[in-house]
Amino acid sequence: MEFLPLFHNLRGARVLVVGGGEIALRKSRLLADAGAVLRVVAPEIGTELRELIDSSGGEQILRGYDEADVNGCVLIIAATDDEPLNAQVSADARQRGVPVNVVDAPALCSVIFPAIVDRSPLVIAVSSGGDAPVLARLIRAKLESWIPPTYGHLAGLAARFRHQVKNLFPNVQQRRAFWEDVFQGPIADRQLAGQGAEAERLLQAKIDGEAPSASGEVYLVGAGPGDPDLLTFKALRLMQQADVVLYDRLVAPAILELCRRDADRIYVGKQRADHALPQDQINQQLVALAKQGKRVVRLKGGDPFIFGRGGEEIEELAANGIPFQVVPGITAASGCAAYAGIPLTHRDYAQSVRFVTGHLKNNTTDLPWKDLVSPAQTLVFYMGLIGLPIICSELVKHGRSADTPAALIQQGTTTNQRVFTGTLANLPQLVAEHEVHAPTLVIVGEVVTLRDKLAWFEGAQSGV
Ligand code: SAH
Repeated sequence: MEFLPLFHNLRGARVLVVGGGEIALRKSRLLADAGAVLRVVAPEIGTELRELIDSSGGEQILRGYDEADVNGCVLIIAATDDEPLNAQVSADARQRGVPVNVVDAPALCSVIFPAIVDRSPLVIAVSSGGDAPVLARLIRAKLESWIPPTYGHLAGLAARFRHQVKNLFPNVQQRRAFWEDVFQGPIADRQLAGQGAEAERLLQAKIDGEAPSASGEVYLVGAGPGDPDLLTFKALRLMQQADVVLYDRLVAPAILELCRRDADRIYVGKQRADHALPQDQINQQLVALAKQGKRVVRLKGGDPFIFGRGGEEIEELAANGIPFQVVPGITAASGCAAYAGIPLTHRDYAQSVRFVTGHLKNNTTDLPWKDLVSPAQTLVFYMGLIGLPIICSELVKHGRSADTPAALIQQGTTTNQRVFTGTLANLPQLVAEHEVHAPTLVIVGEVVTLRDKLAWFEGAQSGV
């Protein structure tokens, strides 16, 4: 091991920074965050750095470096672009046995800055020993996405109960088992979901020896429109924790693959007029699984609250006292529009956008056609394929021009994406001609013409 990682307590300690530019600023920010008292020496010091020094109670010395500046400092940072000067600072520090870091010159350093993931009080440091800082930063980025921003709150929770737990279990092994259980179970889930009071209540109950409630939890997760890359960090994390996954027809296999390997997978997909499981049975199944203590992911295409009946599912959970979380997803309108090069709004063409269900209950009457034909409005029809001839003719009948541009986007954001553009007059014909099938999104409005300039995603490349 080239370097031993140690965490340095700098609260109230003086740290010398030689240099007044951008890099000095970056290092000074970190040092100030850790509570160090800055002494910055440079002939010129940038405005932002000056403000930082002032606000953190440090000192600025506007002149060239002097050996005596090192005195009284517990750490020295050389951040100038003057190599001989950096070498001089390093030599002075080493001679006095003070740790020194020279930016971008590992050979002159006795200490180096790691890439940091800050979930204070939990801090993760990654280092390549100065050989490949970019690699260390990439690892940091992976960790950032994997560890939720609120993870540090778990440490805070543990701190509040530490003494009680220590008194309860004098034995270290028992204590460790207790905390492992807390950090990997429903108590941690509550804390990470931003329900700190509930987490404390559960932890206190656990300490008091109350039987844990058998109840599991349901995560209603939006899986986005198809491209697995469009999942949120939170969706992925919960998918990897799940004991059971209930999924729809709309959820792409590549996304299902990302669920925990040994999770049970239950297909509850719905096809128009061919419901694999009626909605109330899905609701009941969610409740039953959670009551068995399972962590259940209910994975839905797009966003669970946009034509996803997510509201109905959690109503049932709430009525049964089952804890749940809802994770929003990228809805088909956003995903398909972006991947088809059709901005849903545009200053010149559309000042509003409207998401409409095309699943018509009684042929023509149940959509507010008059509202839908107002100009400068983009319409996005979900489930609009079957009713498309009616939708197009009603819009024209109520005053929208038959020449209004319109697009069909089939399996948007996936490698099978196909896009066909036309007008309200010929859209139904395009469906027949190209055998367009579900899931397909219909976008109506002038913005569709922008696709000619803005398309970037190739998909199946068979569209027009
Ligand atoms: N909750 C989902 C919508 C469910 S309704 C969401 O927020 O996206 C189902 C309809 O969504 C489909 O009939 C289709 O119109 C649309 N849809 C969903 N995913 C799609 C995709 N990848 N490409 C095109 N349309 C899609």
